[in-house]
Amino acid sequence: MSHSAASTQPHASILPTYARAPMTFVRGEGAYLYDESGADYLDFTAGIAVNVVGHAHPYLIEALTEQAQKLWHTSNLVRIPNQERLADRLVASTFADKVFFTNSGAEAIECAIKMTRKYHATNGAPERYRIITFEGAFHGRTLATIAAGGQAKYLEGFGPKVEGFDQVPFADFDAVKKMIGPETAGIMVEPLQGEGGVRTIEPAIMRSLRSLCDEHGLLLVLDEIQTGVGRTGRFFAYEHAGIAPDIMAIAKGIGGGFPVGACLATDTAAAGMTLGTHGTTFGGNPLAMAVANAVLDLVLAEDFLDHVNQMSLLAKQKLAGLVDSHPRVFKAVRGEGLLLGLECVAPNTDVVAAARTQHLLMPAAGDNVVRLLPPLNIKPEDIDRAVEALDQAASALEAAMPAEAK
Ligand SMILES: *Cc1c(COP(=O)(O)O)cnc(C)c1O
Repeated sequence: MSHSAASTQPHASILPTYARAPMTFVRGEGAYLYDESGADYLDFTAGIAVNVVGHAHPYLIEALTEQAQKLWHTSNLVRIPNQERLADRLVASTFADKVFFTNSGAEAIECAIKMTRKYHATNGAPERYRIITFEGAFHGRTLATIAAGGQAKYLEGFGPKVEGFDQVPFADFDAVKKMIGPETAGIMVEPLQGEGGVRTIEPAIMRSLRSLCDEHGLLLVLDEIQTGVGRTGRFFAYEHAGIAPDIMAIAKGIGGGFPVGACLATDTAAAGMTLGTHGTTFGGNPLAMAVANAVLDLVLAEDFLDHVNQMSLLAKQKLAGLVDSHPRVFKAVRGEGLLLGLECVAPNTDVVAAARTQHLLMPAAGDNVVRLLPPLNIKPEDIDRAVEALDQAASALEAAMPAEAK
């Protein structure tokens, strides 16, 4: 039995549900990960849009260790001052009036789904429980969130699909309109699909969805688990469209690497979530709250989002050049802020593997896209280095192509 870091076999005692890269890291610093031999890798996966200020940020280390020496966990049977503070800050900087803290994205979506149903039940319309979602959506891996995401490969073999989700083609406004019926409770959407292939919903369509919800008394539920916390160049992506949702699920970036999520809502949308209607043991615990408050200190600081937008512009320009010089590997640049994607001609998994050979880590996505998700405090020279690595990777893929395809 091999225990080598280079093994591609799943570890015997771990459920083999992941296709793990044959690599192990022992340390991280900023945008770089280091393996046991000391080799460095440029990390444009960032824990899948999680490490918003990179690895081992001194300010986050200080917040975590300081809290770790005082108090880790109490449960939500008592008040948690840092939870109240984080909720106040999220409320002050978004559309929301109320926050519920979770440990993950899927749990934040579960809360959003329950809240959407409860809203109508509380308003005397319990028959309104169905939620419209888009093809290509990803909302998590619990039973309800795989039903919401609607992807056959995630639903297969897990019994009856949780009732109450109606899916329409991606960004198809007319299909949404037609799907609305007497049982419809809301529309749930990622402003920019991450796993689905870095596909943006045009701001005009987002505004139309908002109007449609108002017209029919539906709740607009946003999944900003991947797009939130500065990733698209705004604090939250809905700001690009100049609209506000009724409910929003967040996670990933808000903990900077510590597992934390949240469901945000207006007072109106949250009105049914009264005493005893929902709960969690770990959600919003003191350790998570200390780190998330520290993340907000950094992300809400002046110039942070300006930097994201500058780096986005730089990356988009350089990636467009890459597409021009490697038309047999890359087709187009997609995305907003630092949630960027390269639509590939070659199989995206080959591009991911070739980039890894050049010590650049990046995740694949649907639609034959590779994602570029650097930490949001990425430096221009590291964007240069990533583009250089992709250039080398593309050249290597071209060299391996049959002559007629070159
Ligand atoms: C990652 C993600 C989720 C699920 O979050 P988990 O923390 O893995 O449960 C849901 N929606 C979107 C858009 C995501 O990117």
